[in-house]
Amino acid sequence: MRKELIKQKPYSGSEKNLVDIMGRRQTMQEKYKQQMKAYRKKRMKIDSTPFLPPNENIYVMNSLDPTKKMKAEVLKTITKQHREVIVHLACPECGNAMTWDRKWEAFICAKHDKKAIYEIVDND
Ligand SMILES: [Zn+2]
Repeated sequence: MRKELIKQKPYSGSEKNLVDIMGRRQTMQEKYKQQMKAYRKKRMKIDSTPFLPPNENIYVMNSLDPTKKMKAEVLKTITKQHREVIVHLACPECGNAMTWDRKWEAFICAKHDKKAIYEIVDND
């Protein structure tokens, strides 16, 4: 494909063509990345129970107060399809063992005046 493009315009500044090709390749890469991201998102929705990340650090955010990121202690995991799935996560506020709620796609603690819904957030 790259060779063909160069052949088509051999004398109109091949350097410029090369830049164009590389630019196009980068766009393709971006496209691919976006597709992968969308795909992963979709897959997570189907089996939404969160996995234990390799570094075992889980951070959550209270859906009703999404300003602070809190580290949550993983209390129990099971192995499912060669992956560690989180069964119980300690509530970052009271330590109560929370289970995954499929409907909310979050861990919920009901041991407060107000029910707390903790969404898992990215590690960075
Ligand atoms: Zn709690």
